[in-house]
Amino acid sequence: MKIGIVGLGLIGGSLGLDLRSQGHQIVGISRQETTCKTAIDRGIADRASTSFNLLQDVELVIVCTPIAAIAATIKQVSPYLNPNTIITDVGSVKQPIVTECSQLWSNFVGGHPMAGTAESGISAAIPNLFTGAAYVFTPNAQTKPENINKLKAIALDLNAIPYICEAQIHDRAVSLISHLPVMVSASLIKACLQEEPNTLQLAQILASSGFKDTSRVGGGNPELGVMMAKYNKKELLRSLYSYRDNLDEIIDLIEEEKWQDLNSILQINREARTKFLN
Ligand code: NAP
Repeated sequence: MKIGIVGLGLIGGSLGLDLRSQGHQIVGISRQETTCKTAIDRGIADRASTSFNLLQDVELVIVCTPIAAIAATIKQVSPYLNPNTIITDVGSVKQPIVTECSQLWSNFVGGHPMAGTAESGISAAIPNLFTGAAYVFTPNAQTKPENINKLKAIALDLNAIPYICEAQIHDRAVSLISHLPVMVSASLIKACLQEEPNTLQLAQILASSGFKDTSRVGGGNPELGVMMAKYNKKELLRSLYSYRDNLDEIIDLIEEEKWQDLNSILQINREARTKFLN
């Protein structure tokens, strides 16, 4: 298939590497000439340009820009495309994107490959990023079944596992396992920073693997955290309220020294955690 990738960063570049190695013809679109050159040198794209002209006869366009630029990018590329071209995006929030972009392009289908790293830009693109990961598509009532079938086949070519669900359900699930942990982890770091200087200094010296695990996502890219809160506000707040209720319950159990009840919660969690990790 001839595929256009717009935005050659971590996700766009990694998609290009793997789809090209599976025999797809990749056309890359970047805002910068230097990125186009890198894309060709690294085997991310067969051809690359800063002009949307290259997209004229592609069958699929994958928009890999930051969430805030997805709809604007679709408006820019659509005059160059054949009306049957499928457009998908890779944004990590789906409901607002699907609502807006389906009105811009009738063959738009929301997508989210559930893989990434903490790096960004074309230099961060790596092969096999999506191997074994879920690749979610969020069709709506207007989506043609053949479009979904083509996208599922693309996910399988990436050695990813295609998964179909409603955009709102996606956003709710992702708020729990991705966006809530960022805010919880950020609050943990902030709570430490509020300690008086001597304790804080000792905590910094003693911090080890436990703190490394629990602070990782809260100490990441601030732009991404704000983006999650802005575009998934309703579902993130729902998750945060639920988290706050659970934290309050644990505080009450400790204040009231209900050790058996606390143990029951921790026991259930220890067993339940594995179901999120397999
Ligand atoms: P990235 O490495 O920063 O790549 C985004 C690329 O989009 C940039 O390299 C740039 O490419 C282009 N771009 C940046 N600002 C733009 C703008 N204002 N208008 C048009 N193009 C712009 O970021 P990424 O991690 O690949 O994320 C891209 C998308 O993937 C996001 O929507 C994100 O939600 C989603 N996603 C990310 C992850 C993750 O873990 N990082 C995982 C799954 C999904 P050019 O310089 O080539 O134009």
